[in-house]
Amino acid sequence: MIKYKLICKNCNNSFDSWFSSSKEYEKLKKIKHINCHKCNSLNVEKTLMSPNVFNTKKENYKISQNEKYKEVKNKIREYQKYIKNNFKYVGENFPYEARSIHYNNKKSENIYGKASLKEIKDLKEEGIDTEVIPWVNEKNN
Ligand SMILES: [Zn+2]
Repeated sequence: MIKYKLICKNCNNSFDSWFSSSKEYEKLKKIKHINCHKCNSLNVEKTLMSPNVFNTKKENYKISQNEKYKEVKNKIREYQKYIKNNFKYVGENFPYEARSIHYNNKKSENIYGKASLKEIKDLKEEGIDTEVIPWVNEKNN
């Protein structure tokens, strides 16, 4: 199947049409079976997609992806700010601190820090729930 963008030279209406092949299109055109959906004129031509249109769309897509990424990044930053203000940073000691809160019945303290995936898995198996959040490195901007 092939999709052609057709344009009516009579009323300027453009529409998409499917053909089983380009040969079929030529055949239908020859026997005057391709007509405008709007005014029924047979003066219909197939148009080639302009490469510019395609590029513009692609560019827009890129921009919207970037916008989304920025939005997510800003959300993460807000989250980070909240954590920095309300949680105690324990850095690499996170698994140790998390355990000590869990096992020593220490007053539950909000902490944050770094842990490897294995350490997080181990903590989880011990019944210590941690939350993993993505972290934006300010340096990477
Ligand atoms: Zn027309």
